[in-house]
Amino acid sequence: MTDPLLSSYTGWPVIIGSGLAGLSVALHLKQPCVLLSPHPNGEGSSTQLAQGGMAAAIGPDDTPEDHARDTLRAGAGLCDEAVVRAITQAGPSAVETLLRWGVPLARDESGSLALHLEGAHSRPRVVYAGGDQSGAYIASSLREKVRATSRIHVLTGQSLEGLHHEDGLLRGVWVSGGFIPTQCCILATGSCGGLYRHTTIPLSNKGMGIAHAALAGARLGDMEFTQFHPTSLAAGPTQTRRPLISEAVRGAGGPLVLENGERFTEELAPRDVVSRAIAAQLKDGHQVYLDGRHFKDRPFSARFPAITKACHAAGLDPDTQRLPVKPAMHYHMGGIAVDHHGRSSLPGLWANGEVACTGLHGANRLASNSLLEALVCGKWIAEDIDAHSTPFIPLRAPTPRVPFLSPTWTLNDLMEEQAGILRHEDGLRALLEKALPLARHYGPALTASFIAWAALHRKESRGSHWREDAPTSRSPQRQSWTLVDLPSA
Ligand SMILES: Cc1cc2nc3c(=O)[nH]c(=O)nc-3n(C[C@H](O)[C@H](O)[C@H](O)COP(=O)(O)OP(=O)(O)OC[C@H]3O[C@@H](n4cnc5c(N)ncnc54)[C@H](O)[C@@H]3O)c2cc1C
Repeated sequence: MTDPLLSSYTGWPVIIGSGLAGLSVALHLKQPCVLLSPHPNGEGSSTQLAQGGMAAAIGPDDTPEDHARDTLRAGAGLCDEAVVRAITQAGPSAVETLLRWGVPLARDESGSLALHLEGAHSRPRVVYAGGDQSGAYIASSLREKVRATSRIHVLTGQSLEGLHHEDGLLRGVWVSGGFIPTQCCILATGSCGGLYRHTTIPLSNKGMGIAHAALAGARLGDMEFTQFHPTSLAAGPTQTRRPLISEAVRGAGGPLVLENGERFTEELAPRDVVSRAIAAQLKDGHQVYLDGRHFKDRPFSARFPAITKACHAAGLDPDTQRLPVKPAMHYHMGGIAVDHHGRSSLPGLWANGEVACTGLHGANRLASNSLLEALVCGKWIAEDIDAHSTPFIPLRAPTPRVPFLSPTWTLNDLMEEQAGILRHEDGLRALLEKALPLARHYGPALTASFIAWAALHRKESRGSHWREDAPTSRSPQRQSWTLVDLPSA
């Protein structure tokens, strides 16, 4: 039975997810829309947890071209150059948008916006808020603005349960409360880090958006590229979300050291390089620490209050103790393949934010480019939808929903071991053997199968995808897949 309220939204754009990607589309649209938010205050969203901030070329000696160059270098030959140039070009105006929407970005003594330096950026370029609480500050300002915007109807406590399509067009959305007939849906469901044992993202996020889109026939791109953040806090229970120690700590001069205090890597190299360097040390039986005890002007706790809180919760004092660290799944470069307007291959379905694959990140995301992508592409999607709205054509009959089952996800160890930092054909085949039989009826298994399948077919090492059995790079080529490409279980 469908809640009558849902039927009253017939034909409206339906945005699934209320992280920055969903909020940006909602706020940029000019027409009424529905925003689905499973949790009322941003719980379950990576946006809420973002620490470092948003990259944009606003520094006195910076240019969008330099930002593009750094992005392309990190992406290891697989970025879509036109997308990189367009998004980095839009960076400065995205910062203005945040200020206009009331985000209290940090300023230096002269009153200019303060900028962090992060890994693989050639200069300080990251605007931030609340020290290391950029995401929470951004999300809270934007949620406030959504509350004050009467054309945005927020449905809390509702999850996506299926996409309905007829004749190759999106025609409606199944949510927990029933069916919304629409020919315009924007997926903004975030990451799939919850598939792995060690992750910095909310555990509930296991790639259901990707699975629903794939089941409806949408094309997926760059699925093999999963980024491991080098420095999650390796203390406390292993099966919970791991607190992140931002790149900004290394940017501020905190070295990575072994138990004897020896440095072993270039701290601000691209994330995949640093993650592999740490993984190699851990494999050799060493402990790896991030040392934030010796910052010149302000102590760790004053610079990074939220990280300090997480350290205290794990029984560590970052002002006086070194912090044990370990890489953890942090960001998915792949996702629903979209064009420059955020359109997927299924007409009527757009995707934004981490669930989408625009081509900005290529084989490896440059730090703090994801908030920028979600904000900028959200604007472009809204403009596209407003420019092409058509009256809703009555449905033939909505097919009954066939919901995915929701058993407990038990393959997180296998994902970590076989589709983690170091991969091998044998391990990827073993993972597929377990995941594929579950994939028809279980969304996380479908997304995991696509990651394993894409990683198996990339017989080279590039960016965040490292094959121990194929350690060199071939000529750069992007991969994309649909449901029919997967072998049936
Ligand atoms: C700890 C941490 C620190 C980070 N720091 C930075 C940083 O400093 N700078 C930067 O650029 N990036 C950073 N990132 C990455 C960045 O935060 C994310 O890529 C970005 O916020 C993703 O935004 P999003 O809106 O796409 O997804 P999210 O913010 O994750 O939002 C997804 C939304 O979809 C909802 N959802 C999920 N599944 C369903 C479903 N089935 N039905 C309905 N709703 C659903 C969720 O509840 C949530 O509301 C960080 C990530 C983490 C985890």
